Amino acid sequence: MTISIFRERLEVTSGKKLKLRINNNRSTMLSVKWGEPDCTVSLHSFFLGAPENVMNALACYIKQEHKTIAPSIKMFIEDNLKKLDYSHQIDTSKLSVRGNVHDLEEIYGRLNQEYFDNKIDVAITWYGKHDKRNYSRVTFGLYHHLLRLIKINRILDIPQVPDYLVSFVVYHEMLHVACPSYVDEKGFNRIHSKEFKERETLFRDYYKATLWIDKYLGRMFADHG
Ligand SMILES: [Zn+2]
Repeated sequence: MTISIFRERLEVTSGKKLKLRINNNRSTMLSVKWGEPDCTVSLHSFFLGAPENVMNALACYIKQEHKTIAPSIKMFIEDNLKKLDYSHQIDTSKLSVRGNVHDLEEIYGRLNQEYFDNKIDVAITWYGKHDKRNYSRVTFGLYHHLLRLIKINRILDIPQVPDYLVSFVVYHEMLHVACPSYVDEKGFNRIHSKEFKERETLFRDYYKATLWIDKYLGRMFADHG
């Protein structure tokens, strides 16, 4: 629907005067600033295709009848986020795959063939700097869904970190591509589904890798948010 029809419908159902901002950026999906008499509502453009139940939940949120964002809205956002693709925004000249010790491209290719039937199609890069901070507080890998980009922390690119460990971190992030997060009926974002956890144990060196982690690391992944 057009922006003006959308605003009109939302104004009628919420009973509020709205300043509506429709955007296409990567950061704001939904934000509301409550004011009198106008509320400022910023939404990603995919909301223009929202079904009735999502429109109604949105009106309830704007009216402050709902104090939190309803599960139906969260599910709608999650579904639409999956369709968004900002991978064209990646500056491929800045991707670094080789590493000093571990070659991410080689690891990614090997895992893709062995576990994913070569169906995973995302970019991968090292990020960060080598440093000797406490490993227990560091994020080793993350998957940036909107960019279709796996990022692996460069602190793993040292000879003391075995290949199977780097492979396991990459495998974990590739599983995020294969088993996307979802919003359950209560509105909780489920990052590691049952299927995800089961498939994680299928990694060839799963026990070796988890032993290594138990021995050397407190926390391994913090790629959630
Ligand atoms: Zn994870």
